[in-house]
Amino acid sequence: SADAALFKAKSDGRQTYAFYSQELTRLSQLHIELGSALRQALELGQLQPHFQPIHDLASGRLIGAEALIRWRHPERGLVPPGDFIPLAEETGLIVAIDQWMLEQACRQLLAWPQLEFIAVNISSRLFSRGELDQHVARVLAETGLPPHKLELEVTESAVMFDPDAALDMMQRLRKLGVRLAIDDFGTGYSSLTRLKNMPVNKLKIDQSFVAGMPQDHDDVAIARSIITLCHSLGLKVLAEGIEQPEQQELLGLLGCDMGQGYLFGRPLPASEWPRNA
Ligand code: C2E
Ligand code: MG
Ligand code: MG
Ligand code: MG
Repeated sequence: SADAALFKAKSDGRQTYAFYSQELTRLSQLHIELGSALRQALELGQLQPHFQPIHDLASGRLIGAEALIRWRHPERGLVPPGDFIPLAEETGLIVAIDQWMLEQACRQLLAWPQLEFIAVNISSRLFSRGELDQHVARVLAETGLPPHKLELEVTESAVMFDPDAALDMMQRLRKLGVRLAIDDFGTGYSSLTRLKNMPVNKLKIDQSFVAGMPQDHDDVAIARSIITLCHSLGLKVLAEGIEQPEQQELLGLLGCDMGQGYLFGRPLPASEWPRNA
C-alpha cells in the first residue's frame, strides 16, 4: 500500500533525497488517483451497504443490524472499508459517503419491520460538522423511518477529540429521537466523567476484548467491568466480534445485552439476507 511504501522510503536512511522526493511525488499521485476513483465509485454505484445481524443475548432473538460499507471494485473485487475509509476521511469524501450510507440504511430498515433498529457508523469528520443533525432530520423525514429505529455509532476517539462539541451534537441528535452508541469501546481514552454526562444509549465492547475470551482472564475481567459500568449508568451494552459459542455463553452470563459477530452472521448485502430476516 501507499503507506507501507512511504514508511519504507522513510526508514531506509541510505536512500538519497532525490529518490525520496521522487517517491513522495509518485505516492501523492497514487493518492490523488485513488481518491478520485473513490469519488467515481460513489457516483457509479460501486459502493454497497452490507448488513450484519445483531442478536439479543438472553433470548437469542435477531433484533437489529449494523450497516457496513463495501466497495465493489471492477478489478479488485470486494474492498473492505479499512482499505478506503482512511483515505475518504483524509479527502473529506467520507462526509458524502456517510450521508449516502445513512439514507441506504434507513430505507433498508423499512423493508425489515421486524427489526428494532439499524446502526450506522458516523465518521468523526461528519460528527464534528455542525450540520449532522440537520442531515439526519432530513433523511428521517424523507424516508419516514421512526427516529428511535436509527442508531448512530461514533467511536470513543471521535467523542474525546472535542468532548464539548461532541456533547452538543449528541444532545441535538437525541432531541431528534435517534439513539447513540459508542463504538469500539475500550480502545480509546474515554474519561469516565465525560462518559457519565454523554446522552448515549449503548456501548459496544471492542472485539479485541472478545477475541481472548473465554480463556484470557484479563479480557473477561475488562468485559465484566464494562458491562457493570454500563448497567450502573443505565446503558445497554453490546459485544462485538463473537465467533465462538463459548463467548456467547459467557457474555450472556455476564449480563451483556446484545451480541454481534460471525457466530450469528457475517455482513451480507440485503439481497442475501434470509427471507424471514
Ligand atoms: P466497526 O463499526 O467496529 O464494525 C465491526 C467490524 O468488525 C466490521 O468490519 C465487521 O465486519 C467486523 N466483524 C464483525 N463480526 C466479526 C467477527 O466475529 N470477527 C471479526 N474478526 N470481525 C468481525 P468491517 O466491515 O471491515 O468494518 C471495519 C470498520 O470500518 C468498522 O468497524 C467501521 O469503523 C468502519 N466502517 C464500516 N462502514 C462504515 C461506514 O459506512 N462509515 C464509516 N465512517 N465507517 C465505516
Ligand atoms: Mg460500528
Ligand atoms: Mg466496532
Ligand atoms: Mg472497529
